[in-house]
Amino acid sequence: MTRYEPTIGLEVHAQIHTRSKMFCGCPVVEDTGNLEPNTYVCPVCTAMPGVLPVVNQQAVEIAVQTGLALGCTIPPVNRFARKSYFYPDLPKGYQVSQYALPVAVDGELTFDVAGAQRTVRIRRAHLEEDAGKLYHGNGGSRVDLNRAGVPLLEIVSEPDMHSPEEARAYGEALRQILVYLEVNSGNMERGVMRFEANVSVRPSRSDEMGARHEVKNLNSFRALHDSIAHEINQQIQTLEGGGVVEQQTMGWNEVEGVTVPQRGKEFAHDYRYFPEPDIPPIEVSREEVEALRDALPELPRAKQSRFVGEYSLTDYDARVLVEDKAVADTFERVIEAGAPPKQAANWITGELFRLLKARGRSIADIKTSPEQLAELIDLVERDTINQTTAKDVLEQMVETGRAARPIVEEQGLAQMSDQAEVRSIVAQVLDRNPEQVQEYLAGKHQVIGWFIGRIMRATRGKANPQLARDLLTEQLEIRRG
Ligand SMILES: [Zn+2]
Repeated sequence: MTRYEPTIGLEVHAQIHTRSKMFCGCPVVEDTGNLEPNTYVCPVCTAMPGVLPVVNQQAVEIAVQTGLALGCTIPPVNRFARKSYFYPDLPKGYQVSQYALPVAVDGELTFDVAGAQRTVRIRRAHLEEDAGKLYHGNGGSRVDLNRAGVPLLEIVSEPDMHSPEEARAYGEALRQILVYLEVNSGNMERGVMRFEANVSVRPSRSDEMGARHEVKNLNSFRALHDSIAHEINQQIQTLEGGGVVEQQTMGWNEVEGVTVPQRGKEFAHDYRYFPEPDIPPIEVSREEVEALRDALPELPRAKQSRFVGEYSLTDYDARVLVEDKAVADTFERVIEAGAPPKQAANWITGELFRLLKARGRSIADIKTSPEQLAELIDLVERDTINQTTAKDVLEQMVETGRAARPIVEEQGLAQMSDQAEVRSIVAQVLDRNPEQVQEYLAGKHQVIGWFIGRIMRATRGKANPQLARDLLTEQLEIRRG
């Protein structure tokens, strides 16, 4: 049996948060679903004759900063180019993109796959404009240009990946960085990140790269993973059957779970790239680059290792906390409000995540503040309430947005830690159940659990569990006589 090695490179198209479009003043709205078609348009983004594009400076800065976050070099000059092709939602007949001189080159992205660290090289990142949208049906097709001209950053990796899992982890790590930079919402359902996967397969002993299939328009991590897995299998089958894999552009049929040929692959020369004559080359000074580098926020991997070092968290806890920037921020604010780090991590990644998941919500959706969480943890730390009660209180906090203390006071949930009080309840429970006392004295120590259950019921769950257990054992031993 010949063994095969898959090779995967990814192109990621990420929308970037700018106030206006790439070359005109039209506003950028991420959720275009509710907009009337063709309302956020002007002569420039509808490609009227004679108009002139003006470069959005904010988009250039975001592209430079994202490049820096990916460890790229920022060349002193970048330049827009025309990429010629015909499509009904592209009225100019060309897309303004960058070709020979991109904003950023030669970076890398490090991420974890199944517990192992991987680094993938980034070839380039360049700016371009999005196309419009086509709607088919009702006896015809319609064009909506609200999205036309929205800035995109295309991030191109080297073909350094070798499995669908690795490709997905790369995509997720890239999304996480863009969200940390606050340049992309990460909202995949709205199509703010789209992937193209270049997949080829070669016999392990061969030095020659196989011809590649380019799978276009993948809108989710699942589609990214599944389409690559399917392509790898198909190409191996073709080679095993003595066939030849032709370079080709593929689409992904989500329903059938198969890739389908779309057209013969275009080569770069088909696009007739040439420098955009209406836009002069863009110079990026070294001072600007350094200012943008200084303004970079702390990125996920740096934050993760700081959490391990500064708060003595496990790698696992730190990774779970930094996955979502809003969660990491909440965690630090809970600590600032006085909670011990380990407890804060446990409550957030345990009970709070469980409550959020059950409600299909994220930490940004709830009214419970970090200070309120810290107060709840403090009530547990001081033995005012026990763990079980605290879980109920947290659920009420998330439901109502109220603070812990008033809930505990109103509902009389404070833990019963008074020795005399708990001792008298233990005595009552023992007096009412002489049979079980005899069983204990005869050596059946499992009845302890049964007694604890009775004591908790008698105190409506408020007895301090450790105190109850200590007093129970003490009194049972006294009855041995
Ligand atoms: Zn416009």
